[in-house]
Amino acid sequence: MPELLASSSSKDFTGLRVRQAAAMLLVFGTSYFAVWTSPGGDGVSQWWVASAIGACAMVASPRSHAWWLFTGVVVLTGAGNVLGGREPISAPGLALANGVESYVIARMLTLNWSGPARLRSWLDLRRYVVVMALASVVPALMALLLSVTALDRSFSVVAAWVFINHFGCNLVLMLLVTSRPPAPAVSRTEVVAHIALMAGVTAISHAPDNTRTGAFLMTAGAVWAAARFPLRWVVLELMVLGGLITWFAQRGVGPFEVLSVDSTLVTVLGGMQSFMATSVLIGLIFATGLSLERERGLAMVAQQREVEAATVAALHLERAANRRMHSMDQAKNEMISTISHELRTPLSSIVGYVEVLQDSIDLPGHDRADMLARVSRNADRLLSLAENVLLVSAIDERVWAPDKRLIDLRDCLQAAQDAAVVPEGRSDLRVDIQVPQHPLHVHADQQEIERVILNFVSNAIKFSPGAGTVRVRLATVDAMARISVQDSGLGIGPEDQQRIFERFFRSSLARQHAVPGTGLGLSIARSIAEAHGGTTGFTSTEGKGSTFWIDLPLAVVPQP
Ligand code: ADP
Repeated sequence: MPELLASSSSKDFTGLRVRQAAAMLLVFGTSYFAVWTSPGGDGVSQWWVASAIGACAMVASPRSHAWWLFTGVVVLTGAGNVLGGREPISAPGLALANGVESYVIARMLTLNWSGPARLRSWLDLRRYVVVMALASVVPALMALLLSVTALDRSFSVVAAWVFINHFGCNLVLMLLVTSRPPAPAVSRTEVVAHIALMAGVTAISHAPDNTRTGAFLMTAGAVWAAARFPLRWVVLELMVLGGLITWFAQRGVGPFEVLSVDSTLVTVLGGMQSFMATSVLIGLIFATGLSLERERGLAMVAQQREVEAATVAALHLERAANRRMHSMDQAKNEMISTISHELRTPLSSIVGYVEVLQDSIDLPGHDRADMLARVSRNADRLLSLAENVLLVSAIDERVWAPDKRLIDLRDCLQAAQDAAVVPEGRSDLRVDIQVPQHPLHVHADQQEIERVILNFVSNAIKFSPGAGTVRVRLATVDAMARISVQDSGLGIGPEDQQRIFERFFRSSLARQHAVPGTGLGLSIARSIAEAHGGTTGFTSTEGKGSTFWIDLPLAVVPQP
């Protein structure tokens, strides 16, 4: 019934009404049954669940439904009282008391419908017990009034009996609509053991000639259930137990068989209702304590896990920072050694040739020209190194930007054809540049695109120690213009391919074969491509060769 009733959205409005109507039917049925089976018919009934069912319906319904449910409880408990056999004179008063009781429970338990009924802390438990007790005082006072004025009974006994009866029923049934922390996972063995214990204790305490023995063990069982099992099971067990005990008591069997309207207060307090109320109260106290303890434990574990996760994350960060520092340090060392090497080699060669030229005035003309050509080549190499270093620092400081214009990429290929020089003595190596017939326009800085092509071509030449052909092509690939340079040289080992565009990175093959270079060309090529909205890429197989390319967005050229 709890979640079944707990719904107020317009979507399942019909479902809510049906469930409310079912609850009202139960209110009538249980009140009729309780009066009908009571000793003497007109006396106080033994097990009054009607107002608790009405309160459940109110708690699980929106506030606006409270008044019609209140009216339902009043009318239906009144009818149940009269039809069950109670004097018509006392029925309206008792019915009104039932309505007020249900309303008080619903209103106070939901704090005036501002939230769901909860049992999640000691404060909630205190409120729960106080609300049930206060609400149960209402029918007790009404019974007192009626017994003094109309029925002429011993008022203290009747009022106490009614109070405890209602208090016990409310404590049990309102658990159905009260939210509690989830029960722990229990094993099937525990459930079977519990049912066996309850059945055994009930059987023993209701054995012929046995009066009180065993009743208190039932309390222990109820505590066990309240602490370990889901609420619905607990309520079901208590209701079954209550029904059984009532049935036995009415037949004069078991620990509560002495109950009757004329019993003394002591008998009543030791009776069935006080047994149920005590069992539930103790059960709830234990259950609340245990679930709070469990929640605290879970929160501590969660907190511990968070701390552990944070520590691990901090450790990872520190390790990453260390790794970064280490690799920056390595890169710096590599850069210093590469640049010094790249400076020293052409410089010493220039110095050497100049000294020879100075010392040997009578050198034949062609030797002199050859030496001067070598000096000039080395000076060019120095100049290009200086240019690259300057360009890299300009890119880093974001002071460099390409001077974009509408260009025909065929012009860049043409320029590369003129500039690409195969070193002397490498007649086995050919550079094959194919310029397409149709123009391919892009918005780009022509000088920079030429720099990229020349870098690809000079790498292809440098890394092709044997005979072969370097092929330069221009084509359209996926709406981009692609300039590719293919060689059949050393290629790049798989372990180096990830880092090939990193600044100052040189492959292990480049080092092994002592191929000169700084590791700046490709990183510059990538920066140039990105500044044009393009990309760079390559494929390479060690020992078979590589293909490097640059892709640039095609320009839309208006038709003449
Ligand atoms: P550099 O050629 O001056 O060393 P790059 O940045 O142009 O610098 O190239 C970086 C590295 O990439 C080279 O040292 C080389 O290891 C590798 N590489 C570039 N192009 C090729 C190629 N065509 N074949 C093999 N390896 C290449």
